[in-house]
Amino acid sequence: MQKAENLQKEKPVRFHLPYPLYDSHFHALQGVAKLLSAAFLSGLCGAVEVAVDEHHFDRRLEFTKLYPQLNLSAGIHPSSSGVENGNLRSRFTMVREQAAHPSVVAIGESGLDFYRDYAPQDRQEEAFRYHLELAVETGLPIIIHNRAADDRVLAILRESGCRRGVFHCFSSGWETAVQALDLGFHISFAGNLTYRKTEEIREAAAGIPSDRLLVETDAPYLSPQPVRGQMNHPGHIGYTLEALAEIRHDDPEELAKIMVKNSIELFGIKPEVARGQSTISMAD
Ligand SMILES: [Zn+2]
Repeated sequence: MQKAENLQKEKPVRFHLPYPLYDSHFHALQGVAKLLSAAFLSGLCGAVEVAVDEHHFDRRLEFTKLYPQLNLSAGIHPSSSGVENGNLRSRFTMVREQAAHPSVVAIGESGLDFYRDYAPQDRQEEAFRYHLELAVETGLPIIIHNRAADDRVLAILRESGCRRGVFHCFSSGWETAVQALDLGFHISFAGNLTYRKTEEIREAAAGIPSDRLLVETDAPYLSPQPVRGQMNHPGHIGYTLEALAEIRHDDPEELAKIMVKNSIELFGIKPEVARGQSTISMAD
């Protein structure tokens, strides 16, 4: 009896993909990889698996062999740019090599995190500049992580020649959004859009031109409502898409199509690969 009750309490894994959708940002290595097969069968038509550091690149490449709709980024998260993790220049030699792999479609995630402050701010800025140079050199878009650092992120971007990429998990207000758009960047929204007390983020989401908009899970973090508290995975992206459509008064199916198109254009992915086996829909 006791056992059966415990089993019932375990939440089932849910996949909410009412339309073919593209997850522009997630991390596979912390328990998410085992759900990828089901997510792709449920309507996920592509995704970018985003690097947090230079390690485990071979393992991440293995995923792309299993799932041709999956692509990678190469980079070092600002929180991992501290001196205890090694010399930035030599770490960056590895990132540069990884960026040359054909499965790599973006640089990052890089940027500044002055909220958690896991690495000194000058180290974070140095690492961010390396990434921006590499993005310009390779022609790949940069994935920007910005937490409590709006002004510095925008200032460093302005100094750089980089004008292509995405502000991922956008958590700032409209003023920052406008400046990011003016610099040529896309803006991506994650599950925190569905939380209470994120009025400022929703206000920004309402005003972004649809051709500069992306949607992501940032799995395994930030599970959207109504699966908040559970481990996030790319199969949850439908919840955030629907929240975005509601905020913008857009038709969700139309918005989903635009999100797929924007992702494959920004990351330079061949549409037939992204759309591959993606017509089955098993939405809950
Ligand atoms: Zn991330």
